[in-house]
Amino acid sequence: MATLAPPAAEQNSPVREPERFSAALHRYWGYESFRPGQESIVKSIAAGRDACVVMPTGGGKSLCYQLPAVLDATTAVVISPLIALMQDQVAQLLQMGISAACLNAATPSEERNHILHHASTGKYQLLYLSPERIALGGTVDWLKRLPISFFAIDEAHCISEWGHEFRPEYRQLSRLRELFPDRPIAAFTASATRRVRHDIIEQLRLRDPHKHIASFRRPNLRYIVRQCDSRTQNELLLRAVRQVSDGSVIVYAPTIARVGDTVDLLEENGIAAIGYHGQMESAARRENQEKWMADEVRVMVGTMAFGLGINKAAVRAVIHLSLPKSVEQYYQEAGRAGRDALPADCFLFWQKKDTGLHAFFIGKIEDPAEKNRAWQRYHEVERFVQSKECRQRHVCRHFGESPKWERCGNCDACAATPDWLEIELQVPRRKRDATRRPLATKAPAPQPAAPRPTPPVLSVSADIELKEYLREWRRITARERGVAAFVVFHDSALVDLCLVKPSTLEELRRVSGFGDKRVEMYGEQILDALRRFRQGERASEEGKQKVSSPAKETQRLLEEGRTFAEIAQIRSRTLRAVVSLVADLIERGDTEFQPTWLSPQHYNQIAAACRQLGMDRLKPLKEALPPEIPYEEIRLVIARLRTETASNVP
Ligand SMILES: [Zn+2]
Repeated sequence: MATLAPPAAEQNSPVREPERFSAALHRYWGYESFRPGQESIVKSIAAGRDACVVMPTGGGKSLCYQLPAVLDATTAVVISPLIALMQDQVAQLLQMGISAACLNAATPSEERNHILHHASTGKYQLLYLSPERIALGGTVDWLKRLPISFFAIDEAHCISEWGHEFRPEYRQLSRLRELFPDRPIAAFTASATRRVRHDIIEQLRLRDPHKHIASFRRPNLRYIVRQCDSRTQNELLLRAVRQVSDGSVIVYAPTIARVGDTVDLLEENGIAAIGYHGQMESAARRENQEKWMADEVRVMVGTMAFGLGINKAAVRAVIHLSLPKSVEQYYQEAGRAGRDALPADCFLFWQKKDTGLHAFFIGKIEDPAEKNRAWQRYHEVERFVQSKECRQRHVCRHFGESPKWERCGNCDACAATPDWLEIELQVPRRKRDATRRPLATKAPAPQPAAPRPTPPVLSVSADIELKEYLREWRRITARERGVAAFVVFHDSALVDLCLVKPSTLEELRRVSGFGDKRVEMYGEQILDALRRFRQGERASEEGKQKVSSPAKETQRLLEEGRTFAEIAQIRSRTLRAVVSLVADLIERGDTEFQPTWLSPQHYNQIAAACRQLGMDRLKPLKEALPPEIPYEEIRLVIARLRTETASNVP
């Protein structure tokens, strides 16, 4: 008899082992099934084994450590480098009815004491800590008193110098094994080459970890790489943004100045956009990020500082305006597109001059080993953009995968680039532009483009209106509760809501992403909103923010009598960008040229040079004139002379 008894664990648990996992998945996340790889990772962590998981962005990485954490009354400690990411995850977990907290440098002391107290009673199922926190004196002693189930290390590639985001403070985590020898450690990352994976296992001293390396192929992403010059790049950018009819866009600019200029370019062309970079005040940065997350503005222009820890599902395009520093960085940034598994585009519009800029920055690195690694990454990026190999395949091979397939059938190397990228650019706004060279056209590949997967049926106007309406409801609700919009529910849940259109709580419960707690919190309100929509209520116009035009603002500042330098400072733009905008305004007849902008002597010299050399190119003019005459003055005089010529043409 005794030999036939089931193992102790099963005897004690009220639910059978496999059902325990799917029950938690359904109860908290509102999902019916696991995504590829998740189940075996969850089970192995729950069984107390170490893990090393490489799962692309959008693959459902966080669920792999969150789910085992909710299975019993102990606490899982999650180490994450990004404060915003920790806060967002905690907010989402709380909405799901899972007790969680985070401790980092930004936690106010009163809240910290509160969390320290509750943690020691085992209140939290998940406790998020920054790596710096672990290094603080006293933290380890305190942690030893907690009922810890396991450690999860997020963004584990930060521990490796070979990774593209090495963080010295992550090296502290090497001590975890020694300090907590009997607690499992699970490492997670979205991008790690073979060398980085090896480094993670070694540094964290993982013991026979469960390894899961998902494929780096993202079948719903279309990679398109294109070399261009600065003129054609602007046009390509505008086209790439315009072809996105629904959903959000991220544009990556190489420098802070380019962020501002790109926002201006888009707004001047009637596309609402906001910027994000490291030197913005943190309040402004947070505000812009929230506006974008809440769909108030669709296009976000950022430096590479933007997007870490951002979890927005319906990003339809990620556009790079320069060569990234590494293939890993590119993969991670481009991978912010299409997390909802619907088709999305990744455009990389690079210029020859980007390589010079990279070489310049690498030249400044002092540590010879780091310099060597930077050169290696640079050459890998160069090979990527110049390769004729399928882009998806190239990426997979970069991460040490050996794909059995040759072509994705969708990227620019496999299929013809879309028409809107190929047709000649319609630049000539005025006569002089006719001499501009059209965008170099690439001969279309012989084979026809593979058909793209079609997004779910949302083309019916009622559905678009419903989506708008629910989005507004979500925006208002999020604001009332002081949380980010996606914390209320994800974009993928929004799409599903529009398809299912539930009218009872049971029907809502079947919508993907609606677990018990979320239905309890918002169920009635959502059903109410759907009822009002059926009765004819629609999204209001207010809340859709009016685009503030850079041209209008510049004009206003000019009228106030500000100097160009002052305008540049107020608008956080370069002097050259301001002058170029004003010159455009003059040429369009929207602003008058002011003789006070430069001395009559300079004006006459420039005008004489223009008569002699023509006005198509600035450089010969600059070289012919005395060095004290700046580019900006030449540009303004040209604008003035052009309006004269134009008005003299019969
Ligand atoms: Zn391909």
